[in-house]
Amino acid sequence: MAVTRTFSIIKPDATRRNLTGAITKMLEEAGLRVVASKRIHMTKDQAEGFYAVHKERPFFNDLVAFMTSGPVVVQALEGEDAVKRNRDVMGATNPADAADGTIRKTFAESIEANSVHGSDSDENAKIEIDFFFKPEEIVG
Ligand code: ADP
Ligand code: MG
Repeated sequence: MAVTRTFSIIKPDATRRNLTGAITKMLEEAGLRVVASKRIHMTKDQAEGFYAVHKERPFFNDLVAFMTSGPVVVQALEGEDAVKRNRDVMGATNPADAADGTIRKTFAESIEANSVHGSDSDENAKIEIDFFFKPEEIVG
């Protein structure tokens, strides 16, 4: 299996509850390595740009408001089959459907405030990493 990269966000519901370390520990224990990380407060423009793919969805405005409601931690993660590995440890979008032991089952508050983002493909991982990080900010 090839070593690849994915993009993760620890969302405002999680930073508010001081869960950055607990979530990062679960990512690391799942075989992912943090190769870039920064805590930021997303602007409305950044959140709208990042979630542009969802702009026709009914929850788009609420999602942008939520993602700009507090600090987030954006991370590039590296590991074997990183996109799938991260999606597996994240769990389903709706925490009510997430498997035991996943981040969302353990920590998410709701389908919206679900603690973490993870890329859904290698192609989107590259786009999302490039959206938030300069090449020199990623140290593998
Ligand atoms: P995922 O984050 O699991 O890839 P999506 O890409 O479908 O899920 O959705 C992006 C984010 O939008 C979700 O993580 C969640 O924060 C929010 N979201 C998704 N579906 C809903 C919904 N039905 N109501 C409110 N917020 C939602
Ligand atoms: Mg998604």
